[in-house]
Amino acid sequence: MNTTDIWQAVLAELELSISKPNFVTWFKNTGILNYQDNQAELCVPSAFNKAWLEKKYHHMIVQSMERITGKPIKKLEYKIYNIKNMPAAAAGALRAEYSFQTPLETPAPPTGQSGGEFILNPKYIFDNFVVGSGTELAFAAAQAVVRKPGESYNPLFIYGGVGLGKTHLLQAIGNHILKNAPHFNVMYASAEKFSNDYISSVREGNAKNFQNRYRNIDLLLIDDIQFISGKDKTQESFFHTFNELHQQNKQVVMTSDRPPKAIPALEDRLKSRFEWGMIVDVAPPDLETRIAILQKKCAEKNYALTEDILRLVATIIQKNIRELEGALNKIMAFHQLKNTEPTPDSVKNLLASMEARLMQRSVTPQQIIDAVCAYYGIASGDILGQSREKRFSAPRQIIMHLMRSELNMSYPAIGDELGGRDHTTAMHADKLIGKKTENDLRLKQEMEFIKQKFYVSA
Ligand code: ADP
Ligand code: MG
Repeated sequence: MNTTDIWQAVLAELELSISKPNFVTWFKNTGILNYQDNQAELCVPSAFNKAWLEKKYHHMIVQSMERITGKPIKKLEYKIYNIKNMPAAAAGALRAEYSFQTPLETPAPPTGQSGGEFILNPKYIFDNFVVGSGTELAFAAAQAVVRKPGESYNPLFIYGGVGLGKTHLLQAIGNHILKNAPHFNVMYASAEKFSNDYISSVREGNAKNFQNRYRNIDLLLIDDIQFISGKDKTQESFFHTFNELHQQNKQVVMTSDRPPKAIPALEDRLKSRFEWGMIVDVAPPDLETRIAILQKKCAEKNYALTEDILRLVATIIQKNIRELEGALNKIMAFHQLKNTEPTPDSVKNLLASMEARLMQRSVTPQQIIDAVCAYYGIASGDILGQSREKRFSAPRQIIMHLMRSELNMSYPAIGDELGGRDHTTAMHADKLIGKKTENDLRLKQEMEFIKQKFYVSA
């Protein structure tokens, strides 16, 4: 196992023990420079990253590294590197999916030019997608779309739980089309990126640029569209983008963690448009499919596991294919390092700790209240009480918003948690904060810090 393998294995573990937004925020574009004599040196893209990793994740990283290498770590240091100057060996540690390089901030390409601002992961193609009963329909719909973009199902809306292949399918559509029709203008973006692009274009008085980028294209792929929930301005902009593309028979494909009807704070006119074409879900794979997926991943990694071990892993990890891959990476890293063959016992041991950590991740309403109160230095009694003073009412609204966005609680339930308040109060607070964070960078950062707190303590 070389140095970069160690960091990959650490990332694979961490990805499973912290929330995805946190993982992406703090670990994207990180790499390893050195590992020697019980010392390791990591490279991180910014001082902000460095501070956070040192403060919040240092222990987790050290522990994980020790578990993986089986040796104590005496010293772990972080070096700041601009991603562009990162030493090649360290950058090699960035498995494609851990590297989320932001595109260079050049102006939008002239219209009619293919390329531009999307970053598709070449790994996500139809060929390596294992179709099971839970994904049969979604897979067929995606293929229909690439055969006749803009004609078969427009829009195509794919929804389902975490780690079930939505992003894989979405990008497979893009990759397939680019391969067969390179002149096609393809745009792939997360809803969050769409929203950020929109906001900065408004701030910079550059709305035309934004429109050129998102409206002069042949295929628009938007990942995790549920993130436009509660963002009114973004929704309006997406509405116009969608209409323009749809009218010209340009294909739109979206993914979401839930069906359009269930996305909270989403304008009706968007909901109805999302239902115009085809809506398909992806469901967790059955045991045989999970085994087939593991086999495929093993083949890709050139690593052989016996039938028994495959079945064991697929029995332990049931709901999420990302976790299935994580388990495999872990098994590989551990046994290659020790130069041993996996046995049922060694595998059970390895995965037991992983499962335990997966369980810990769920956050409770009380943890949200505690984290917000701690952050703003107030007592939870004041939050639940009647005071309308701004120093209490503002954090109270933030709590309501977080209960909605992080736990997907109903408004009446949120009202109850906060000392029996009316559901309309909860709804108002949720929308208000959602809207505010859209424009208020500081509030947005505060929320990130708070989330960080309860996800790490969870
Ligand atoms: P989602 O977007 O639904 O959260 P992803 O598309 O990111 O999930 O999938 C998580 C990981 O699992 C990716 O590495 C993906 O390649 C892999 N994966 C998911 N479903 C399949 C499948 N049916 N066959 C092969 N790999 C899959
Ligand atoms: Mg996804």
